[in-house]
Amino acid sequence: MGSMRDILNSLLLKELLKGLAVTGRHMFARKITVQYPEEKTPQGFRFRGLHALRRYPNGEERCIACKLCEAVCPAMAITIESAQREDGSRRTTRYDIDLNKCIFCGFCEEACPVDAIVETRVFEYHGEKQSDLYYTKPMLLANGDRYEAQIAADRELDSKYR
Ligand code: SF4
Ligand code: SF4
Repeated sequence: MGSMRDILNSLLLKELLKGLAVTGRHMFARKITVQYPEEKTPQGFRFRGLHALRRYPNGEERCIACKLCEAVCPAMAITIESAQREDGSRRTTRYDIDLNKCIFCGFCEEACPVDAIVETRVFEYHGEKQSDLYYTKPMLLANGDRYEAQIAADRELDSKYR
């Protein structure tokens, strides 16, 4: 009985008609495809994109070389070396993030006690070779300087929900 029904369905092209009905329904439905890069989807203020190292308004770098971010990073993507300055404060002499390893989990920014390492909303970057995605301290500080206004606004918004 079951096989007779299958044969009949096959002769009547039932599956094909069902498929075409789905296509027809979607043909006239509201389009949800975004025409990237001309159009972009909205981003949350906690978007985890390209990393940046921030400074205080007086230009001093925030990072105090506590290495919590390095310790918490599950991908072991962060490498820090530090030294004491003449004024007794401690600062990094090396702060690298290997974005080839990074899984953008956000643990580094969560761990940071001084809001130094953050993930920006920037996602439009690329590397043509592996070394292009190895971000050094000057590169990370440059990201921070460039996107500070957006970073500060996002952190302000974020603080309201904590
Ligand atoms: S986002 Fe996660 S994986 Fe990437 S550097 Fe930070 S802690 Fe490591
Ligand atoms: S970025 Fe933050 S968590 Fe990482 S070493 Fe600097 S102060 Fe510590």
